[in-house]
Amino acid sequence: MNRRTFAKSAVLLGAAVPAALARGAAEKPEGPLGEYYEEPAKKLPVRKFDVVVAGAGTAGIVAAIAAARQGAKTILIERKGYPGGTVTEGGTALHSFFNLWKAFPGVEKRQVVKGIPHEIVERLMKAGGTSGHAEMLAGYNYDSVCTAIDTEIYKLVAFEMLAEAGVTVAVNTLLAGAIVDGQRVRGAIAESRSGREAVYANALVDCTAFGDLAAFAGAKYTEPNDYPVVNSMGVAGVSVERYYEFLQSHGAVTQLARGWRSGKEGQIVRLDSSGKAFPQEFKDEARKIGLAMTITTVHDDYFMFIKMGLKMPVSPTSRDAVAAAELELRRRQAKAIDLLRKHVPGCEKAFIARTSPTLNIRRARVVGCDYDITSADVLEARHFEDDVMAYGFHDNAPRLQIKGGGTYGIPYKALRVAGLENLLAAGMLITSNHDAHMSTRNTVCCMGQGQAAGTAAALCAARKCGSRDLPYRDLREALVRAGVCLES
Ligand SMILES: Cc1cc2nc3c(=O)[nH]c(=O)nc-3n(C[C@H](O)[C@H](O)[C@H](O)COP(=O)(O)OP(=O)(O)OC[C@H]3O[C@@H](n4cnc5c(N)ncnc54)[C@H](O)[C@@H]3O)c2cc1C
Repeated sequence: MNRRTFAKSAVLLGAAVPAALARGAAEKPEGPLGEYYEEPAKKLPVRKFDVVVAGAGTAGIVAAIAAARQGAKTILIERKGYPGGTVTEGGTALHSFFNLWKAFPGVEKRQVVKGIPHEIVERLMKAGGTSGHAEMLAGYNYDSVCTAIDTEIYKLVAFEMLAEAGVTVAVNTLLAGAIVDGQRVRGAIAESRSGREAVYANALVDCTAFGDLAAFAGAKYTEPNDYPVVNSMGVAGVSVERYYEFLQSHGAVTQLARGWRSGKEGQIVRLDSSGKAFPQEFKDEARKIGLAMTITTVHDDYFMFIKMGLKMPVSPTSRDAVAAAELELRRRQAKAIDLLRKHVPGCEKAFIARTSPTLNIRRARVVGCDYDITSADVLEARHFEDDVMAYGFHDNAPRLQIKGGGTYGIPYKALRVAGLENLLAAGMLITSNHDAHMSTRNTVCCMGQGQAAGTAAALCAARKCGSRDLPYRDLREALVRAGVCLES
């Protein structure tokens, strides 16, 4: 039995583990030389919180705000220098606050995700950082609205909201391990230039996308490696109008939305196209680098996200394989700019204005939770007796849609990490089924999950109870009071 298997079985079987065993990256069993350095034990300073949220991304921001607003002393641990995560680095638009009403004639338009995610959009609107919920004029079988964002304004708005809620925002801080006592996660190990610390909490939420906290704590996980990795970039020096006219002249516009852009309403904020506008050379080269030309924008001269994909041979938890992919993706970005300048009207002066600090993933680890949402749950629009949110978008629409333009529920049990008493998870890391995950991983779903997990963590911390001992009616009441929409 290697150290990792030992750690896991110790948690699952409740075996005699030294009290508060710290688990961290050093548990990776194989070194390339087969040699090991025994790191000396250290005394770490302790900080105490009610709730730890790991990862200040799409779900984590909302989880931390929700926990703090419930009165929990909350710390948010983020390895980068800002909150934001993949919503500010990888995505195209926020899918989706609404049901897919436009694809189902006669079905009523409903905003199904509200609460803190809705507040974020309202704050973005005030700051000029979103297109608003712009109705799709073409391609509405995919999504009925386009909610495009400005990535930099999003980071600031999120940071301000966290500060206002009283969250201790530990940016530039790596979650480096978990402190586990039997089936209870006693805390997290955090590492920054201020040193290595033990951060104790009554309840913890893993929003790291990679499932780092859950993996350190010995939770079960899989690594399906079923998506390409991406480094999406912001491209400036372009004319959205000229690009649109080019596509339009070839009858190639497949998606179109008009909303707020550069201070004016009614402007193009989303465009997608069939290949027929582009010369063969462009199409051939674009295919080689995995270039996708779905664009959203909130500025006249800017495409907010242009993506290049790369299928890695192994899961993106491999540092060395990721290093190779990071280099290759940057080469592909340069190639993409050349292609845009050469072949695409409106892009003759295009340049890279923003790249993501690390490559983006659609998933890495999938963490085992008490319930694993199935594709039938999603497509059949099922709700549960312990719903914590409703959601109505599928990223594979129109091929896969939620029945009747309706919604399904995310149950509380899908956010409780299996085998551990007080660890919750939210974001892309739940849901193992590929088709179901193509819905639950989208930004607005992750945000809603974050609000539910953060609220539950705060309630558990206040009562000093485990996540399974929290009465659902109390969680539901707190969520409804905070504006969450439950359609069951
Ligand atoms: C290329 C791409 C395009 C996409 N397009 C769309 C789209 O158009 N619309 C849509 O709705 N969805 C889209 N998605 C899906 C969606 O963006 C993600 O699934 C969602 O944002 C994930 O949210 P999350 O909270 O799980 O993770 P993230 O937002 O990635 O947050 C995880 C956070 O944890 C931090 N972290 C990780 N490990 C540690 C650690 N050990 N210590 C400290 N911090 C850590 C990270 O830095 C990050 O900030 C796309 C995804 C990708 C990759």
